[in-house]
Amino acid sequence: MKNIVIFGAPGAGKGTQSDKMIEKYGFGHISTGDVLRNEIKNGTALGKTAKGYIDNGQLIPDELMVDILAHVYDSFGSHHKGVIFDGFPRTTPQAEALKKMLHERGHKIAAMIELAVPEEELMARLINRGKESGRSDDNEETIKKRLNVYHTQTAPLIDWYKKEGVHHHVEGLGTVEEIFARIASEIDQLSE
Ligand code: AMP
Repeated sequence: MKNIVIFGAPGAGKGTQSDKMIEKYGFGHISTGDVLRNEIKNGTALGKTAKGYIDNGQLIPDELMVDILAHVYDSFGSHHKGVIFDGFPRTTPQAEALKKMLHERGHKIAAMIELAVPEEELMARLINRGKESGRSDDNEETIKKRLNVYHTQTAPLIDWYKKEGVHHHVEGLGTVEEIFARIASEIDQLSE
């Protein structure tokens, strides 16, 4: 089983590369952003709470996210090829909770793959995506807040995962296929 955290700033290509990984390896996929957007679409209580944070470029409180994540993870059953965590963890308490949640199930994170993309490129990609995505948080003002949240709250996880011994750095510039080839080569080198 290869549980993998796909990591990077907003606009780094986590969603795009997750799709490629699902196709090639048959992994399950948890995108916490997709889960929340779905809750908003369905008008649930969780969706109503989440919307305020998302539209403001802020993170949803950790306790809430950790509960959601465990619930979705368990929906894959106890035997699966692996799950891609996309957009989670975003804070150190989330990374610690993920480790504990997996440990309780006899599982672990096999790799954290960091998609490294320069700031100007992230900004350009997100503004471009906003023209088509219809996402309420893909506008210049909210993008700046999200990048700031990434740098202050999420980027410290790079060192956290280095200490765990599972960090893999991948250059996130180039074509989708070029980037995916780099990711696949990291995954293929993981032991079973
Ligand atoms: P994403 O689609 O991953 O860019 O997530 C969009 C928004 O959903 C983020 O800006 C946060 O407001 C919220 N969100 C997604 N995942 C998390 C998480 N792990 N922790 C807190 N907030 C999250």
